[in-house]
Amino acid sequence: MTEIPLDAFGEAAFIADADFRVVDCNARALELLRAPSREALLGLDATSFPNDHDLSAEFPTYLRERLTAVPFVVLENHVARLDGSVFVAECVLHRLDDGRVFATLRDVSARVEGLHRLEEANERLRAAIRDRMEFVSNVSHELRTPLTSMSYALANMARGLCGPLPDKAQAYVSRLQVDVKRLLTTVNDILDLRQMENGTLTLRKGFVPLVRLLGESADALSIQAQAKRQTLTLAPAPKEIYVNGDRHKLERVCFNILSNAIKYTPEGGAVNAAVSEEGGLAHIRVDDNGIGIPPEALPRVSQRYFRVGDQVAGTGLGLSIVREIVELHGGTLAIESPVPGADCGTRVTVSLPTCPGPLLLVVSGDEAFIGELSGAAQDVGLSVRVDREAIDVPKGCEGHTPARFVLDGSLPESCLGDIVCQIRGDARLAPTPILILSPGMEPSRRAEYARMRVEVSLWPQQPEALRALLRD
Ligand code: ADP
Repeated sequence: MTEIPLDAFGEAAFIADADFRVVDCNARALELLRAPSREALLGLDATSFPNDHDLSAEFPTYLRERLTAVPFVVLENHVARLDGSVFVAECVLHRLDDGRVFATLRDVSARVEGLHRLEEANERLRAAIRDRMEFVSNVSHELRTPLTSMSYALANMARGLCGPLPDKAQAYVSRLQVDVKRLLTTVNDILDLRQMENGTLTLRKGFVPLVRLLGESADALSIQAQAKRQTLTLAPAPKEIYVNGDRHKLERVCFNILSNAIKYTPEGGAVNAAVSEEGGLAHIRVDDNGIGIPPEALPRVSQRYFRVGDQVAGTGLGLSIVREIVELHGGTLAIESPVPGADCGTRVTVSLPTCPGPLLLVVSGDEAFIGELSGAAQDVGLSVRVDREAIDVPKGCEGHTPARFVLDGSLPESCLGDIVCQIRGDARLAPTPILILSPGMEPSRRAEYARMRVEVSLWPQQPEALRALLRD
């Protein structure tokens, strides 16, 4: 290295002794440091070029140690010229075999300044995106309340609360319901997205009956499917399947994947939905025989703003929000196209960990009552515990949180009254709904129970009626 004349280097180059004193330099170094002559630089401490105030007195020692450990060191520092002006330099130091140091110095002020400007521009861009997002979510907030009340008003009109509607008006109301629901979904998507970006999306968890939830979404979307003469089929589920989750958010998941299936399936097509349970996982599956998704787009469809083509209106947010909600619940989203075993369409599968259904606490000593009730409760996915003694009901509930009490109405009247008082008198259990299934009861007794928020019902004749009663 020392064989090469320093002036052969295009950059400012120096040779320093082991104490970092400059012993030689080239003409480019004089130019860069604005030194009147080579002599002005000779003997200067090369480590004093870096002008950063935060460089400590230990810097030369540190540098010496680094240079014995590694072949070269690169520093980027402010360097003072001999006329006092300062620039940003990239300094590369090499240790030579004889202990001396070879250093090059390059003015990188323009690059650093460019980077600085780029960072400022980036920050301005981020702020503009934040402002825009803030504006969009403020507008969405403003829209949500009137849209929600429009949705209720339309539902009431459709239900005939303002009197019977002529067929044409009924058709308009149905159409408006679909449009308002669509707008509400978009508004909610935007608000959810904002919360996801802020990391403030929280779940209000409780028991969520998935079979019912999917059924409700399918009902709400049936008008849309009918308008496209599609068949929308929900496979019957043998029993209710529960997950511990946020009902509203999971409703959005069901609604979104079903409405996508309808949206991306042409007139006359078919959409099939089902909920099943396997190995502790609930699977919500929606198949359609629509336009499908090209293989190269499949990995990207659940990314924000990604859309395949633009023949149908959309924001490209739905599936990304579905994925985030599902993942927040510890579940997964899988998208396949074509549907396995078919040659077209799309299958969307949401898998979520299941949980035991809400607990029904049955108070009865009658085995026939217990057997029939337990069977019906299990059919609808509820868990059951039985208290046959009812001596201390709150004690029997320790370690459990019943979602509802069902009392055998054929128990002696005094006993029934005592059980109700035990429940209503216990701070933890007091808010829990109570149902008395009775072969018959005097209206005055019934009214008394109603005052204690106890529902009294006749034992239903049909098993389905019993299941419906327990489901509610
Ligand atoms: P949007 O439907 O609002 O565009 P999504 O995030 O819900 O946004 O979906 C992203 C993209 O995935 C859609 O633009 C569409 O191209 C595709 N996609 C989603 N579901 C289906 C489906 N069932 N069939 C075909 N393509 C679909």
